Amino acid sequence: MNILIQNGTIVTAEATIQADILTKDGKISDIGANIIIPADAITINASGKYVIPGAVDPHVHMQLPTPAGPSSDNFLSGSIAALYGGTTTILDFVTPHKGQSLTDALELRKQEASNALTDYSFHVSPVEWRSSTEDEIKECISRGITSFKVYLAYKNTVGLKDHDLFKVLKVVGKTGGLVTVHCEMGDEIDLMRNKFVSENKTGPEFHALSRPAIFEADAVRNVIDMAKLAHCPVYIVHVSSHLSLKHIAEAQKSGQAVFAETCPHYLLLDDSVYKGDFSHIAKYVISPPLRKKEDQQALWDAVSDGTVKTAGTDHCPFNLEQKAAGIDDFRNIPNGAGGVEHRLALMFTYGVLTNKITLNQWVDLCSAQPANIFGLKTKGNIAVGSDADIVIWNPDFENTISVNNHYQNCDLEIFEGFKTKGLAETVIKNGNIVIENGELIVSSETGVFLRR
Ligand SMILES: [Zn+2]
Repeated sequence: MNILIQNGTIVTAEATIQADILTKDGKISDIGANIIIPADAITINASGKYVIPGAVDPHVHMQLPTPAGPSSDNFLSGSIAALYGGTTTILDFVTPHKGQSLTDALELRKQEASNALTDYSFHVSPVEWRSSTEDEIKECISRGITSFKVYLAYKNTVGLKDHDLFKVLKVVGKTGGLVTVHCEMGDEIDLMRNKFVSENKTGPEFHALSRPAIFEADAVRNVIDMAKLAHCPVYIVHVSSHLSLKHIAEAQKSGQAVFAETCPHYLLLDDSVYKGDFSHIAKYVISPPLRKKEDQQALWDAVSDGTVKTAGTDHCPFNLEQKAAGIDDFRNIPNGAGGVEHRLALMFTYGVLTNKITLNQWVDLCSAQPANIFGLKTKGNIAVGSDADIVIWNPDFENTISVNNHYQNCDLEIFEGFKTKGLAETVIKNGNIVIENGELIVSSETGVFLRR
């Protein structure tokens, strides 16, 4: 299918221009004024619309295994929600169980993801250090995985001890990859969690109270110090606190390769939601937890001045029934919430339309930087030779986010009632129309695994 998109306003991270776009064989083949319509091309009139690169979500967890069951979106339902929101590429995770090799876990995860309708890749998590881990990391890199994820929290499951984290940083640094890090001080958090429960403080509000911002900031500081010694670039996922931003900005100023991601929920929600009954509070049980109003402002400033490079979603929804696993003990509430569907609309409405960021920054945060940082060379841009992943964005469409109209497979919605403007009216992935006039075109075509 060849597609000619006419009369639109093309927005990339660098520029905003009026031009037409021609796609051919899944790639963007021409950009310019008055492109002659090829005989076999479909034409789309994008007058009054923005034409942007298909968005890249650097942080999602589809069917993440937990004791309360897998996160409620699988790769099919989650990728459909992503497409409705204008996201055409997702980066999920490979989390081996202890004793399993990284490469075995990678191949299994690739099978699980094979029905995704978006393109996809993974960050691979070493959850322990074994004599074979160095070779497994190198083998992952040769199979097209260049980013790894380590957790300082969750010490009793996937969290790494500091000296093992240092080994991972050294190996990945040497081989030219990137380590992404969940920064929270796991041991200190476990102490506080257990202390609360021993005092009979078992309600969901104690989740956030057991994970104060200082535990995140101290972990960020430690990781930055270790990464410097190990000569490894690091990417701090879901930064939520102004205390963490200070360490990140300082390291960046000194020239260290430290990237930061935040998520729409840290920009738009705060800890005032941790009041009410279990079902209300439990839907906001995420890690790190929501912070204060002043953290929101600091995060917007960091997004605007470039300290924070990407907006990911940490999409990891659970149904209320799953959250209820922790009704008697907050430690058993599965951590996470959905968001893959809403990122572009929320960042457009509450970022661009309130003049906190420009249109180009919107594309940079949601598409270009995630693609650049994670080595997706043909994604995140509208340029001749890039993949024909294109969103035609209708800036005038109005929506109210609700559990009743979202496509995410979840009976909870943390952005319930948020009014948004903008719609991914037409979504083209690899040269095929997958969303037309806001409706999914059912096709047998699935996404592809992206070797990086
Ligand atoms: Zn996550």
